[in-house]
Amino acid sequence: MESWRRILAESLSEPEEIAHALKMDVEDVKSVTDIYPVRINPYYLSLIKEKGDTIWKQCAPDLRELEDLAGNADPLDEENQSRNKVVIHRYPDRVLLMVSNQCAMYCRFCTRKRRVGDSKKNIQPAEVMQGIDYIRKHKEIRDVIVSGGDPFLLSDEILEKYLKALRAIPHVEIIRIGTRTPCVLPQRITKKLCRMLKKYHPLYINTHFEHPSEITAESSKACEMLADAGIPLGNQSVVLKDLNDDPLVMKELFQKLLKIRVKPYYLYLCDPVKGIKHFRTGIEKGLAIIRAVKGYTSGMATPQFVVDSSAGKIPLVPQYIIENTDNVLKLQSTFSDRVVEYIEVE
Ligand SMILES: *Cc1c(COP(=O)(O)O)cnc(C)c1O
Ligand code: SF4
Repeated sequence: MESWRRILAESLSEPEEIAHALKMDVEDVKSVTDIYPVRINPYYLSLIKEKGDTIWKQCAPDLRELEDLAGNADPLDEENQSRNKVVIHRYPDRVLLMVSNQCAMYCRFCTRKRRVGDSKKNIQPAEVMQGIDYIRKHKEIRDVIVSGGDPFLLSDEILEKYLKALRAIPHVEIIRIGTRTPCVLPQRITKKLCRMLKKYHPLYINTHFEHPSEITAESSKACEMLADAGIPLGNQSVVLKDLNDDPLVMKELFQKLLKIRVKPYYLYLCDPVKGIKHFRTGIEKGLAIIRAVKGYTSGMATPQFVVDSSAGKIPLVPQYIIENTDNVLKLQSTFSDRVVEYIEVE
């Protein structure tokens, strides 16, 4: 068995073992696991330094997940916009192709909480092949985002079968993979996997780090191996209340990501998904993060802050135009008090 499989097999998932390892009340744990899956693999568990820290908050079941009755299970309307069970075709030229329902750790704030980790909603290879048929029939699709769940929870062989089928479609120009394994199970990034991925360029990977404490020797190595395979790496983070909604913490995260060759790509406002209300913040928190990085540090370290919606991702930006009268714009950057005038063309 590959070592990442062994680590994954030793994950905490039963209420008794979770309660024991996390020193929680077993009944509390059970009431959450009855509704939502929990999986904490030994690597991610080892990053917890104390109860309630930033790693803990991402993986430990919390009774507040059950108290949130107002949220919508699918606020982005993904189920309706799905052309079959596995393809979401929301944008003109690109689709999301969901190939796995499993993840190496179940983030408590997951946007796809309604389906991820639910074994009754497992994705079958035949369904993925139907999704690929849809892509083959739609010549306007030039960009396929392989997602889930986490595509890297599949075996190298099954993943390769999908990548090969996508690459055989002439109009598919680029393939992107969304995976959190470099962060939560870096042992998954093996030499064998990298050798396989390299065959399917142009290939991009977006990963998902939320906090500087996740940047370890292991996760740095995983990103280095992928980058060495010629794969440009991006990162998507979510602004999470009392976890990373702090401009200085996020500036540190973005700078550290660049050091491990990962470019911050998107910063998301937390979606109004049922069961994750206790992670949600106002727009101001995200704007404060952008204000604290744009101009203060490398432009490369600045992701785009967006709110996701059924109409696509909508950028949210700080107010840079202070005034606009008679072709004279008064502009102010985020890191300087100076207001500059810009004369617009007639
Ligand atoms: C985010 C997303 C994409 C990709 O958007 P980009 O802005 O191109 O990164 C595509 N489809 C769906 C459904 C998405 O949610
Ligand atoms: S890795 Fe992504 S899909 Fe999986 S639980 Fe976390 S947020 Fe959800």
